[in-house]
Amino acid sequence: MIIVMRPECGPDSPEVAEVVRVARSFPDVQTEVRQIQGATRSLTEVYLIGSTGQLPLDRFADTQGVERAIRVREKYRAIGRHEGQVEALGFEYNGLRFGDDSFHVFAGLCAVDTRENVEQMFRALKQLGLQTTRAGAYKPRTSPYDFQGHGRACLPYVFELAGKYDIKCVAMEITHETQLDEIREALQRAGQPTGVLIQIGTRNAQNFELLKHVGQQQDFPVLFKRGMGITLAESLNACEYIASGGNHRIVFCLRGMKTNLGDPHRNLVDFAHVPVVKRLTRLPVCIDPSHSVGQRLVALDGLLDMHHAAAQGIVAGANMVLVDFHPTPKEALCDGPQALLLQELEHFVADAQLVRKTYLDRVALGRRLLKGSA
Ligand code: PEP
Ligand code: MN
Repeated sequence: MIIVMRPECGPDSPEVAEVVRVARSFPDVQTEVRQIQGATRSLTEVYLIGSTGQLPLDRFADTQGVERAIRVREKYRAIGRHEGQVEALGFEYNGLRFGDDSFHVFAGLCAVDTRENVEQMFRALKQLGLQTTRAGAYKPRTSPYDFQGHGRACLPYVFELAGKYDIKCVAMEITHETQLDEIREALQRAGQPTGVLIQIGTRNAQNFELLKHVGQQQDFPVLFKRGMGITLAESLNACEYIASGGNHRIVFCLRGMKTNLGDPHRNLVDFAHVPVVKRLTRLPVCIDPSHSVGQRLVALDGLLDMHHAAAQGIVAGANMVLVDFHPTPKEALCDGPQALLLQELEHFVADAQLVRKTYLDRVALGRRLLKGSA
């Protein structure tokens, strides 16, 4: 059960203390008090854990300071939306807003290879007024003989250049919790020129110890990628490890599912699940057309399959797009075949914005024409 408090009742308020007292008066019920950044307001929620099945909702709904008492429908209680009963989670980070109403394109290098390429990438972003990017320092590779990323060695110049080109947030995967400290220290040494969205890759979607670590820190928000070979419910439960640690600043990313049925794409594009994840969870949703499609295929209309896949996710309400670019994809040390060229950035972003507008128009149309017909 989740007890949503009125906005004026903070975690230390007497009203919250009373809810906790009442909850604990029932046998085998524990409580956790959480401060949540909702889409439009900051809220305190009290989670009731343990034998809560028989607890009367009214006992809490009638308590002073309580806005609503909600019966939890899914096991992933902190990120779950529980049949629409709780509001979307959103957050501000380094001047950027992430929530069910926001939209960002994180275009950048799959893996950082050279300082020159990072600079060219960031310069191209700045020319278009973009302040969000991706830059992989720690790369989880299928083969131990493949380039593993430059790791901490590249962080000083990545952050220095981020500052130089006004990048507000860099999505960066980590594969081990010690890398959190490396990123924290490098940012500090560089004078905090940018923010970092910590990425949990699909291969670590069920690395529960790593998830606990990123959940127990509050410095960085987290981009959680769906596991490529597990069910959606398993991915959502894995993602809950981050929230249950106390960090609710999470974006859930779809990146395609591993199956040969996806051929000729690298993965089976799963962007029809954007509205599904939004219905099941309170999280903003990202799509990654690069790792889904995985190669540069040109459709008959002249657009790339990557554009079409991205459009499918955006037109269904995606809040963020993670996409690979590279100045010279043939020389890229990781995932070159799926990287778009810097001279294609303007088109990709303009196309994405066009589709985003179409999504907003579709929602408005639905509200107008479907009113009362449901
Ligand atoms: C990546 O984004 O660089 C990456 C490795 O993605 P995924 O974990 O989705 O394969
Ligand atoms: Mn990659």
